[in-house]
Amino acid sequence: MESMKNILDLKIDELQDYFARLGEPAFRVKQVYQGLYQKGYERFDEFTTLSRSLRQRLAEDFVLRSFKELDRITSPLDGTTKLLWQLSDGMKIESVIIYEKKRVTFCISSQIGCALDCKFCATGKMGWLRDLTVGEIVEQVLQMKKLAERPPTNIVFMGMGEPMLNYDNVMRAAEILADEGGLNFSRKKITISTSGIIPGIKRMADEGRPFRLAISLNAADQQKRLQTMPIAKKYPLEQLLKAAQYYYQKTRKRITFEYVLIAGFNDSIEDAKKLVKISRQVPCKINVIPVNSIDDHFPAPSQESLERFEEAIQESVYAVTVRNRKGWDIQAACGMLYAANEKQKIKPEKLSLTDQAH
Ligand code: SF4
Repeated sequence: MESMKNILDLKIDELQDYFARLGEPAFRVKQVYQGLYQKGYERFDEFTTLSRSLRQRLAEDFVLRSFKELDRITSPLDGTTKLLWQLSDGMKIESVIIYEKKRVTFCISSQIGCALDCKFCATGKMGWLRDLTVGEIVEQVLQMKKLAERPPTNIVFMGMGEPMLNYDNVMRAAEILADEGGLNFSRKKITISTSGIIPGIKRMADEGRPFRLAISLNAADQQKRLQTMPIAKKYPLEQLLKAAQYYYQKTRKRITFEYVLIAGFNDSIEDAKKLVKISRQVPCKINVIPVNSIDDHFPAPSQESLERFEEAIQESVYAVTVRNRKGWDIQAACGMLYAANEKQKIKPEKLSLTDQAH
């Protein structure tokens, strides 16, 4: 069952090679890629421009949908929709659709669980289970596109997992989503968000990857950062900022620093001043996000302290955005729906890849 290849793993030139081997004309690949990414076909028998025998052959060679929806929660306040998927091996991941004025952001996962154990994160509590395949990353977007009220304007790798620790699959999936012959999603609207994996940041710069880079900073000094993000031990703040500078020098692209605001921990005026200092070292935008509290250790800031913090950095920083409390009522932070689902002990039967292909 596991040996069947997911067609969403393939870049357009690889699909081209496949058709060439079958002796099919080159235009077939266009028809198939459009069917996959623009029309969103979910079964090979929907590709009616192909002969019956070719459709049959594709269904024998490839899987087209490899997972199913297990749970969905939509916020009655803002429409934020959190999805829990069950993968072919029974594992589960989450994705989120966030509506914000004209923006529709698809937040996707790159790993099942995460090894980095950030203290404010529900996914971190699971530990790392496995990396997602290219097809599984791409499929989140295609399945969400079917469910969303409007097509996505932004795709962010901010769901479960650390994208830089599944670098090859993440970059390949992002390239597939951006392919002009398929979904044609703007590369500038795809954001790779890291907790600060320096080799990944440098590699992205050296390879000239055209996607946006976000760094989850969450504290403006090393000691505080260490308290919530154990990865700061391996990649200290000072070195991380040097890597961020390197990235900017190479790419001339502004980084976004994500700053999860936690009451009484990193929301003082002193913290704000340190953050401003960092923004002078590295051309950046700053995204302040009130913590999605998973326990009493990390209380959410009051509206007042959020505004005070924002005010303190606003003047000096190039661009500051404060993310609304999107989906707070449905616990939309990564890993939370998974955790709730585990508690309820929903144990659906295993999904077979071959069942799903028809
Ligand atoms: S915040 Fe991101 S990097 Fe940190 S534990 Fe959670 S998923 Fe992993």
